[in-house]
Amino acid sequence: MSRFKAAGPTAELTPGVNIPLIGMGTWPMKGSEATEAVRQAIDNGYRHVDTSENYENEEAVGEGIRRSGVDRGELFLTTKFNSRWHGRDAVRTAFGHATRRLGTDYLDLFLVHWPNPAQGRFVEACEGLQQLADEGFIRAWGVSNFKTEHLQQVQHVGLVVPLNQVQLDPECGQPALLAHHRAHGVMTAAYSPLGRGGAVLGHPALTGPAEMLGRSPAQVLLRWHVQHGRVAIPKSADAGRQRENLDVFSFSLTPGQLDAIDALDTGAGPRLDSDAFFH
Ligand code: NDP
Repeated sequence: MSRFKAAGPTAELTPGVNIPLIGMGTWPMKGSEATEAVRQAIDNGYRHVDTSENYENEEAVGEGIRRSGVDRGELFLTTKFNSRWHGRDAVRTAFGHATRRLGTDYLDLFLVHWPNPAQGRFVEACEGLQQLADEGFIRAWGVSNFKTEHLQQVQHVGLVVPLNQVQLDPECGQPALLAHHRAHGVMTAAYSPLGRGGAVLGHPALTGPAEMLGRSPAQVLLRWHVQHGRVAIPKSADAGRQRENLDVFSFSLTPGQLDAIDALDTGAGPRLDSDAFFH
């Protein structure tokens, strides 16, 4: 297996596995749009790409990676699988399908996309993932959209969950979940990290520091994520915004500025309830 060597800032996910703090989100792009956006993002310096079975763009993402001309071993590639593959052996089948679609022979990170608690097999899925990691097919594993109680069920069988990818922006701060992550060594990856480019970017807690620092509100927001030690996977199809979103490592926010952004949490939680939503 080739070994990823990061060019940009990373965090240690599991011993010897470093994950770049900013990754390129690929939902909802498909086909040639996804291929071109991924190729362009890698050209713009991204070394971490996030996709999933459910986005139906893994083939297109794989093509973008190949067209970039950058060695697979220089990239950190995350994908996720759907509920039909929850099970120790089924996860292995999901791995086979995902790697074929992506055109790679290993994954850097493979995630349970949604817990699907009604199906009741996410613990087995995690056990299957741990086995794939132990055998060297995937470099690390994790989960997505898991609440504290879902994580606890996995932790109860003795597994250490390396990462949980969840919806996180200043208005959706999920403080209780993040406290559980900190207490149990679960790395947080923020999806929809820009609040989908919506109203939050106009809040004075972001526009104030942006003006002061000569940065954009999106950069301040992404800096807030990385300064809190999180991975963030902003999606942009635009070359300029891709570069902007990656350029968050040469300035910093003060503790007061971080606190003011933390204070925007509405307590409402994520858009989708992972006890009810599934695929
Ligand atoms: P984001 O918070 O990344 O916002 C994306 C939107 O913001 C797009 O409309 C984009 O437009 C715009 N945008 C990007 N950069 C900027 C900028 N610098 N300034 C202003 N606007 C900007 O939301 P997503 O929901 O797309 O989340 C990102 C990724 O997270 C997804 O692509 C996917 O990979 C992952 N995800 C995971 C989920 C899960 O269940 N695990 C669920 C949802 C998403 P433009 O392209 O025109 O720049």
